[in-house]
Amino acid sequence: DLVLDPLLNTRVPMLSVQPKGKQKGCAGCNRKIKDRYLLKALDKYWHEDCLKCACCDCRLGEVGSTLYTKANLILCRRDYLRLFGTTGNCAACSKLIPAFEMVMRARDNVYHLDCFACQLCNQRFCVGDKFFLKNNMILCQMDYEEGQLNGTFESQVQ
Ligand SMILES: [Zn+2]
Ligand SMILES: [Zn+2]
Ligand SMILES: [Zn+2]
Ligand SMILES: [Zn+2]
Repeated sequence: DLVLDPLLNTRVPMLSVQPKGKQKGCAGCNRKIKDRYLLKALDKYWHEDCLKCACCDCRLGEVGSTLYTKANLILCRRDYLRLFGTTGNCAACSKLIPAFEMVMRARDNVYHLDCFACQLCNQRFCVGDKFFLKNNMILCQMDYEEGQLNGTFESQVQ
């Protein structure tokens, strides 16, 4: 059985703030930030010069107020779209999932949030709920157990 694990295709807000109180260390270069403004993103503080796109090296603070992260990379919007333009096709409705949408993952499948429901009774799941993947169908515990009892799954090819 599987446990629901939502995955956000991460778009992270970036704030330009004036330092208050103790000097903060920069998450990029590890030095103290003495500038008049610093950037706050991903729960860390950065020099304006140190928060850069891993691909094109542009200063993200100048590009906009949002950055994108995936697989430990910090990226500008343009490079994020270039590298991860879409998440893939939803295993339920087979439509493309745009890169910035929150998705549900089960094994190798991805689903729209709206599409992720028991395919027999339409029950939705909450984060941490148990669900089952049988013959590539999403099932709630009840329908799964009922199917096991009735032998519904046995005749179908896995
Ligand atoms: Zn720095
Ligand atoms: Zn870039
Ligand atoms: Zn879908
Ligand atoms: Zn169900």
